[in-house]
Amino acid sequence: MSMRVLLVEDDRELRSILCESLRLEGYLVDTAASMAEAQALLKHSQMPDLVLLDLGLPDGDGEVLLQSLPAGTPALVISARQQDGVKVRLLDAGAADYLVKPFSISELLARMRAALRHRGVHLRPALTRYQQHGLVIDLAAHQVSLHGELKHLTPTEFKLLARLVRNAGQVVTHRTLLADVWGAEFTEHTHYLRLYMAQLRAKLEAVPADPHLLLTEPGVGYRLLAEAENG
Ligand code: CA
Repeated sequence: MSMRVLLVEDDRELRSILCESLRLEGYLVDTAASMAEAQALLKHSQMPDLVLLDLGLPDGDGEVLLQSLPAGTPALVISARQQDGVKVRLLDAGAADYLVKPFSISELLARMRAALRHRGVHLRPALTRYQQHGLVIDLAAHQVSLHGELKHLTPTEFKLLARLVRNAGQVVTHRTLLADVWGAEFTEHTHYLRLYMAQLRAKLEAVPADPHLLLTEPGVGYRLLAEAENG
């Protein structure tokens, strides 16, 4: 099951980098650029499993939001404020952790896993690099190559492939793929999958009609050959 994260950050560039990194890691991400947006999301949409909270927001201080979060929802503060007093106060006020900007994405992800572990949720770092039969997929760098030749994928093709990489070796059902790549309202649109899988195979398989990497599990879903598997 995917964990839902509410990202509260008014810096547009940082928000979009974080959002994309978290989605690649398999999180469902809602974003808010202000206190008002965050409060509206907390009130009207599904409760997040974890909140990433910037402090300096255009319409107030993230600290106020921290106080209003429901008990049991871990909040990681992400802020440029690095005075000890601030950190201590927020940790005492219930923040699960405090990261001073700038921080590395991998440290953020590790601390998120730690915060969720305290709530009994055990996540493994997701696969972000895949290599098999000359195909190299680097999700973080957004690069796909086959026998050393860079392949251009459309954003949707890349999302679909990334979803399969994250569960390489395991079957991912049609429903899950459709929901994660296109959205929850598209879970019946299996023709999208057929179309996009055919496009991916045309770009990445030696013989698209006889795939060895992007495998069909009839009636269930698709599976990317595991890295150790012989295909
Ligand atoms: Ca800010």
